[in-house]
Order: sequence, then C-alpha cells, then structure tokens
Amino acid sequence: MENMSAVISLLQTIAGICFLAAIGFIMYKNMKKGSKESVMALEVVPAAQKNTKLIDFSQVAGNEDAKNKVCDIVDYIKNPDKYNKYGARIPRGVIFYGPPGTGKTMLAKAVAGEAGVDFYAVTGSDFVQMYVGVGAMRIRQLFKKVRQSGKAVVFIDEIDAIGKKRSNANTSGNDERDQTLNALLTEMSGFDDTDGVVIIAATNRIDILDEALTRTGRFDRHVEIGLPNVNQRKKIIDIHFKGKPVSDDVNFDELAKQTIFFSGAMLEGLINEAAILAAKQKSEFIENKHVEESYYTMIAGSPADKSIVKRKDMYITACHEAGHAVITRIVLPENEISKITVIPSSNGSGGFVLSIPPDKMYYTKKDIEGMIMSAYAGRAAEEVIFGKDCVTTGAQNDIQKAASIIKDYIFKYGMFDEFGLIGSEYEKDGLIYLKKVSYNLYNKTVEIVKNNKEVILSVANELIEKETIYSGRLDEIMNNMV
Ligand code: ADP
Ligand code: ZN
Repeated sequence: MENMSAVISLLQTIAGICFLAAIGFIMYKNMKKGSKESVMALEVVPAAQKNTKLIDFSQVAGNEDAKNKVCDIVDYIKNPDKYNKYGARIPRGVIFYGPPGTGKTMLAKAVAGEAGVDFYAVTGSDFVQMYVGVGAMRIRQLFKKVRQSGKAVVFIDEIDAIGKKRSNANTSGNDERDQTLNALLTEMSGFDDTDGVVIIAATNRIDILDEALTRTGRFDRHVEIGLPNVNQRKKIIDIHFKGKPVSDDVNFDELAKQTIFFSGAMLEGLINEAAILAAKQKSEFIENKHVEESYYTMIAGSPADKSIVKRKDMYITACHEAGHAVITRIVLPENEISKITVIPSSNGSGGFVLSIPPDKMYYTKKDIEGMIMSAYAGRAAEEVIFGKDCVTTGAQNDIQKAASIIKDYIFKYGMFDEFGLIGSEYEKDGLIYLKKVSYNLYNKTVEIVKNNKEVILSVANELIEKETIYSGRLDEIMNNMV
C-alpha cells in the first residue's frame, strides 16, 4: 500500500508538471502570436479605397458651419495646384472637436467622398503601445501607404491618445508617446503642398492637446462639431427614418424637440431601437409607441436624462444667456453677437453667447467696463428674474472672467481713479479696489437688466423654442420691443 500511494503521488506530480508545461507552452505560443499580431496589425487597412462609395456632405445632416469650414479643403484636395499657384497654404492638418457621436468621423469620410480620394481611418490609441518605437513605426507604415495612394484623407480618431499635453510632473516615462507624436509631425511635414493629402484628427477636447500638435503649419485648422440644435436634430431624424416604414403618428418635429442634448449617434440609436421594437412585434410600421419606448430606454441614465427631466434648468440657462446677449448688445455695441445657444459647448458651460469683439488696437475705459458688465449680465439676469436668493452656480466662469478683467482695469490700465496710475498691485488694499469696482459695475448691470427685463424674457423664450439664435434675430427681437 505504501508503495502504491508513492507511485500514485509520483504520477500525480508528473501529470501536474505536464499540465503546467502544457499551459506554459500554450501561453508561450499565445504570447508569440500576440506580439506577432500586434506587429502585424501595423498593416493599416484603408477603410475605403478609391472609387468605392464614400459618403458625401448630404448624408451629414446639420453641421452646416463645419461643412462650410472644410469646403475649401475639399477643393484643395481636388486642385492643389490652383492654390499653389497663388502661394496659398491650405491647412494640411485639421482638428474636429466636440462631443462623441456628433458626426466627426462621418464628416471626415465625407471630405474624402466629396474630393473623390482614398480614406484612411485609424484610432490614436492604436499607436500607443507598451513597446517604445512601435507606435512610431506604425505611423511611418501608415503614411507609406498613404503616399502610395496619392491624394487622400487620413482620419485619426482620439488624437489625444497621442497628442495630449505633457504634464510637467510627468516629463519622463512618456517616451513612447513622444516618439509617436514626433513621427506623426515628421510625416506630416514630409508632404508637399501639391500632394493633396489632408490629415483630419478628432478629439472630444481640444484644450488638452499639446501645442506641438496645434501649432501653425500642423493641425492649425480647428473645427468645432457641437451637439445639434432642434433644427439640426430634425434633419438628422429625417435622414435616419428615410427608407424605413414609419407610421404617420410619429411626429418628427415633436421628436426633435424632445431630444435636446442628443447627439446624432444617439438619434440614430433611438431610431434603430424603435425599428427593432417594431420588427419584434411584427408591426407593419414603426409607430409612435416604439419610438417612445426606445426614447425612454435611451434617456434613462444617459447624460441627456438629467437635463431633459429638468426643464427648469433649461429656463435658467435661457434667461442667463439672454441676459448676456441683450446686455452685451447694449454695453458693447461694436461686438458682433453671432450665436446664442442653450446647448452646452465642449468647454462645459450650460449654454453660451458667441460674441466677437471689434478688431481694434485700443480698447477704451468704456469698452473694458462693458466687457465686465457683459460678463456679469448672466448672473444679473438670474437675480432680476428669479430673485436674489435664487441665483445659481452657473455664473462661476463669468465671475472669474470679470475678476481678471477688473484686475487689469485697476492695476494695469490705470482706469480706476481711486487707485490711480500706479501700474502695480503691490498696494495691500488691492482687494478693496477690486471689490469696489466689481460692486459698482455689477449694480450697474442689474439696473440695465431691470430696464430690459421684457426683452431678455422674450429672447429667453425664443431660446427655449429654438435653442440657438443667430446674429440678426437678436436685433430683430430687440428692435421689435422698442
Ligand atoms: P463621432 O466621430 O463624432 O463620434 P460619428 O461620425 O462616428 O461621430 O457618428 C456616429 C453615427 O451617428 C453615424 O454613423 C451616424 O449614424 C450618426 N450621426 C452622427 N452625426 C450625424 C449627422 N450629423 N447626420 C446624420 N447622422 C449622424
Ligand atoms: Zn454666463
């Protein structure tokens, strides 16, 4: 018995060793295969080849601004010589920035489609590998391919994976990324202006990109692709319902209104989900009940959820932005207000007013005071409309902005008489002056808001309705009121 158990235990040990060896062998093989694969994956497959059907601009709904901004690029790819003859330099690198699902990839593909050239699509994270040098090698291989195909559009999604700002604390240990980024920049500068090659990179946040990337001559055209407003959503909805059997009881306008803060991708998802529901139920058409069910599934837990439920937030945003817009028109009449919107922008604000200051060398004391009041106008509108105790955190950035202008107003430009022309803030009472100026100008802003409350409310109501108002319309509303 003793012997027997010794034999068994020996056998067990052998079996164990064999088992381990087998596992080891499999792991080894996989590792080899893995590393081989990651090297082989360098093969960048063009997402579409010349003459295969790419999309064109008509399939990208809304986004008219962005399309206009890339029109000349399409023309340049088609006729580089035309521009070259005049010594015009067309951006070789373009950055599309904005929230996910807004059609950045689509638009890049459409640029290639409109120009009728090859389209290569890669993702930034494909180039950031554990091993130093692999990313750079992949970049070189990609561009070798691109060169072979002649004119082309190269699309790099998630460029931040390669081109994020270097934080000072972390200068070392990023060799791989630096090498990859350098390889990309080198390859880009290797093209001639007559080559007709354009590189489009996409990111959700442009502010985190390394300056080495965004500098003149590199990715120097920046095109924002934001969330669609109600009109644009209607167009996207139209496109995605096209060709589907949809019942008359689905109201596209209503759906567009309900889907504030939805991206194009979310709209596409919503419609697709409704179609699946209809198919499952063997319904003849996609009916409103399918759309509604899909809508509620989609907004549950999504970022759109919070804001859709809280219509009140939207009203606050609308009043705040209307305040900025109307007051800016009054205190900075030379500014061009090109857009007012309650759709959040990529910098995280609830809504915004796009106001372009006049192009001049000097600003007067009145201008600077106007800038401060214009920044305060959002908060002032909240105070006048909702009451002193109901002002919100929405003015955080405005307050910071105003404070920094006030600082310059007093200490740099010598525009506050009580402080004088000392041109420095060493004075220990600096804060007292800051407070005084801030207090005076804020109160002045509140007064102007009070006198224009009606017009601010009409702008706010129109914002709720249309979400975005463009330049001329603000003047129309303001002129109608007087
Ligand atoms: P991004 O690159 O900005 O993340 P994509 O271009 O990948 O977004 O869009 C994902 C999908 O969303 C598209 O394939 C399309 O179905 C839909 N989509 C997004 N924006 C639009 C738009 N403007 N018009 C039509 N469809 C859109
Ligand atoms: Zn504001």
